[in-house]
Amino acid sequence: MAQRKRSQQKKHYENYLKGKSWKRKRRKIMQLSGRVCRVCRKRRATQVHHETYKRLYRERTTDLTAVCGTCHKKIHSR
Ligand SMILES: [Zn+2]
Ligand SMILES: [Zn+2]
Repeated sequence: MAQRKRSQQKKHYENYLKGKSWKRKRRKIMQLSGRVCRVCRKRRATQVHHETYKRLYRERTTDLTAVCGTCHKKIHSR
């Protein structure tokens, strides 16, 4: 049962990332960072990382960080 609930939440999150409100938020984060990765400050930011999932679906700009693909992978493999 718990398994099923988790996969539904995952689905909800995936849909959220495809939605308009996320796209708007994402664009804002990219603009604020100057489209440069916040971690290496060299490569172009292509992804947005969640610093916290506490406010998932109603994130503040400080909850999100613009990152490049390489740094994003590093963050999640820590
Ligand atoms: Zn980077
Ligand atoms: Zn991330």
